[in-house]
Amino acid sequence: MSAESITLRQRIIQACHQMEHSGLNRGTSGNVSCREGDYFLITPSGVPVPQLSPDGIVAMDFTGKIIGEGKPSSEWHFHLNLLKNRPELNAIVHTHSPHATALACLREDLPAFHYMIAIAGGDSVRCAPYALFGTEALSAHAVNAIKDRKACLLANHGLIAAGRDLDEAMAVATEIESLCQQYLLARQTGQPVLLSSEEMRAVIDRFRSYGRNANQTH
Ligand SMILES: [Zn+2]
Repeated sequence: MSAESITLRQRIIQACHQMEHSGLNRGTSGNVSCREGDYFLITPSGVPVPQLSPDGIVAMDFTGKIIGEGKPSSEWHFHLNLLKNRPELNAIVHTHSPHATALACLREDLPAFHYMIAIAGGDSVRCAPYALFGTEALSAHAVNAIKDRKACLLANHGLIAAGRDLDEAMAVATEIESLCQQYLLARQTGQPVLLSSEEMRAVIDRFRSYGRNANQTH
């Protein structure tokens, strides 16, 4: 195992700890993957975060073949297909974070109620139709819902966030969870006023023109 691979494995474990401490994730439900050359690394199935170790992170190629040992997260289908279909994305984070999941249970898209939604690359975060966890069907829905975006909700399930690296994927996951919380809060007292597509285009242009990354968009 190369030094670079060990570092990436450690970074994946660090991200899992971060998700647990920030409340983005609890227990063993979340999972993380990162592209590494012509294969990808993914968190193992059913291992609690405190027990994760670098050699327990599973390597898999883009045909779904496990390289070495281990049992990948049951959601390896959508990790594989998203990384395969979107060469510009190198990291995927999946969580059942409370507010994103609550909105996903309403099977609603997150609309442009706040300009920061542009962090996911457009004027909405779509909610993918329901399919059983761990299936190719769920993966196909996720690939469609996240088209031109860096995040989508999964109906009655949770959130997927992606980025050019793990830092960006984590930043997108954190921001979308926070936006879902704000949106649900606003919905409790009224109907949030949505930004127009013109207003959102201006935000997206500004995010692009500053060339800022996901951590620096405020
Ligand atoms: Zn899940």
